[in-house]
Formats: sequence, C-alpha cells, structure tokens
Amino acid sequence: MRAHFPTSVAGVSLTSFSELALKPALLSNLDSLGYQQMTPIQGLSLPPILKGKDVIAQGKTGSGKTAAFGLGLLQNLDAKRYRIQSLVLCPTRELADQVAKQLRALARAIPNVKVLTLCGGVPFGPQRASLEHGAHIIVGTPGRIEDHLGKGTLDLRQVNTLVLDEADRMLEMGFQDALDTIFSHCSPRRQNLLFSATFPAEITKIAKKIMFEPETVKAPSTH
Ligand code: ADP
Ligand code: MG
Repeated sequence: MRAHFPTSVAGVSLTSFSELALKPALLSNLDSLGYQQMTPIQGLSLPPILKGKDVIAQGKTGSGKTAAFGLGLLQNLDAKRYRIQSLVLCPTRELADQVAKQLRALARAIPNVKVLTLCGGVPFGPQRASLEHGAHIIVGTPGRIEDHLGKGTLDLRQVNTLVLDEADRMLEMGFQDALDTIFSHCSPRRQNLLFSATFPAEITKIAKKIMFEPETVKAPSTH
C-alpha cells in the first residue's frame, strides 16, 4: 500500500507508522497485525489526531479509516481508568461490529481494554448489564445510544474522544436529532473526529456546531 500513495500534511510527508509518536506497544502490535505502511488517509490524519486536534477526514471505503481514529483514541486511553473514554458512532450494526472487531485487534497491545457495542435490533437488558460492568470504548448506532441516554443507563461525561464514522450515511439515515442529543451528553472538553466519504452541507453544519478549528484532510481519489 505504500509507494503509490505518497502522503503529506503541512509539508510533512509520512508513510511509516514508526514516524508517529505512538505508544511502543501500539506500534509493535501494528507490526504483528501486518500493518507496515500507513494508508494515505492514515498518513494525513494521524499527525493532527495525535496532536489532539479535531479532524475531518474524507476517504473512500477501504482506505483504512478505522485504524486512523482507532490509533488516535487508543493513544489517549488510560486503561486503568475504568470509564467510557471514547465513543464511536456508526450508521449500522454491521459497521459497528466491524469497527469494534478492528478496535479490539488494535487494542490487544494494551491489557484489559474493554470495547462494548451498543446497537439496535438486540435486547436492551444485556446491554444495560454490560454497561453496569463498565467499558473504556463504546461503539454503537445513534438510535440505541440515544435510548440508553434517555434511560440513564449510559454516562458519557468522561468521553474524551468522539468519533463520527461514516457521518454522511448517519445523516442520510435521519440520525441528526439523535446525534444532537448525544453531543449534549458528552463532555465539551473532548476531541472530535469526523470521517465521511462525501461532504454534504449538513456535515459542515455539524462540524461548525461541535468542532474547534478542525483540520480537514482528504485521501487522494486515485486510491
Ligand atoms: P474504511 O473504514 O476506510 O472503509 P477499514 O478501516 O475498514 O476501511 O480498512 C480496510 C481494511 O484495510 C481492513 O481490513 C484493515 O484491517 C486494513 N488496513 C487498514 N490499515 C492498514 C494498513 N496500514 N496496512 C495494511 N492493512 C490495513
Ligand atoms: Mg469504515
């Protein structure tokens, strides 16, 4: 995945994960996962993500967006603090399951990281029971997350990284109001990462509403 896709941000060109200031455990786990070079979207988005900036990233399906935000949130995670520190919102249960699976693989580097999925179409009770046991990272769909907030079964006040994955699809599916409710339950002191394949006007509106001086990156469309 490397030589054909040179990446650059603010004049800096990065292709190797080892050029990033990632925790050594995360780096060596990437090696064992067979991730050698960053994809373009990773090379462009990870430097500002790791600086703690809000980031808007545009990249097609298969461009490696999950590891981009996944490494960002794992870098910030304190496994000893057993609180929900990251929330990843996805449009569908299938996507949430895929993201959770990749996050668990990336998180193998850090002992005892708990990733919990909260999606609709499954009973509420077991999810409530899992939440009582706690988690570090929640991956879910906006509707079910909103339901948990309404019932008081989910506390997002300690979230320091909020990820909107496939934001364009979430808006197409009518999740705008659910998203607004969710934003209002998260700590205002957080990093926001927004990933999308397309950029309709509503995305810009969300970005204006919740983001602070976001950095926008776009993977080359040749990919
Ligand atoms: P997207 O969310 O952009 O559609 P994914 O994050 O699901 O794409 O990544 C697509 C596939 O590429 C996954 O199977 C993932 O494990 C793999 N992948 C991601 N980053 C890398 C990398 N740097 N090197 C090798 N494989 C990668
Ligand atoms: Mg994806």
